[in-house]
Amino acid sequence: MRNKLTLGLAVMAMSCLAYVGLAKKVEGGEDKLLKVLIIDGQNNHKWESTTPVMEDAFKSSGRYTVDVSTSPGKNGSEEEWAKWRPDFSEYDVVVSNYNGQMWPGEVRTAFVSFVKNGGGFVVVHAADNAFGMWPEYNEMIGLGGWGGRTEKSGPYVYYKDGKLVRDTSKGKGGGHGPQHEFVVTNRDNTHPITKGMPTEWLHTKDELYDTLRGPANNMKVLATAPSQKSQRDEPMLMALDYGKGRVFHTTLGHADYSMKCRGFYDTLNRGTEWAATGEVTLEWSEDFPSKDKISPIK
Ligand code: ZN
Repeated sequence: MRNKLTLGLAVMAMSCLAYVGLAKKVEGGEDKLLKVLIIDGQNNHKWESTTPVMEDAFKSSGRYTVDVSTSPGKNGSEEEWAKWRPDFSEYDVVVSNYNGQMWPGEVRTAFVSFVKNGGGFVVVHAADNAFGMWPEYNEMIGLGGWGGRTEKSGPYVYYKDGKLVRDTSKGKGGGHGPQHEFVVTNRDNTHPITKGMPTEWLHTKDELYDTLRGPANNMKVLATAPSQKSQRDEPMLMALDYGKGRVFHTTLGHADYSMKCRGFYDTLNRGTEWAATGEVTLEWSEDFPSKDKISPIK
């Protein structure tokens, strides 16, 4: 933790220097970089290799400083858990790369208060598998998979024949087929996050989550992808309001190679900026993928 914080400070200093060169990306003469806190430490995915990719995405945008708070592992002692108290209030936006044991009550309370009072939250891929039994968390993320989720968690939400459907039929939440490249469709060209995003673009090899379910309140589906497994257009990008806070939910990002896609980088950066501020100043990259061609991060 201490090493990561020290590294974070060093990176912050470097980012401030880099900022001079990238200033035109931040409009309105704003001289403040947004502070991101990534939470990891437990996940059924390789968080050790995906957190660094997200750090690279954030830092390369010139808009953020990034710290990482790593929770104790599955065999963490009570003492270790008692020491893990990320200070959310120090940040503009919290990004979860966490799917594991329930956080201590004190951390949960602080986190809910942070978002309710205007903090930003970004939930990435398997982080929406976490905490199936934590009501406030499920309100924040809108939809989730696995974690005991059923019709009691809320409806399935998807597009079918071009229409948004809230489907209350019975069944478990969460699934995916084999990994593949797939086309992401822009469903909301007016929302700050997806405004100007190509109508269709090819995402690199990833898991296409299907049949997520949850309260889905105050939620806008911004982008979808067609699932061969569920035969529906499944939500890929979502924006939610929770109290005074904003939440960006991306179901993309199964592995480091899935994240190394310009489409993932740009949507993560724009979604995170929106969650932090309610606005998006970052522009779409020139090498954004087209409908027929992926755009890997080199
Ligand atoms: Zn996955």
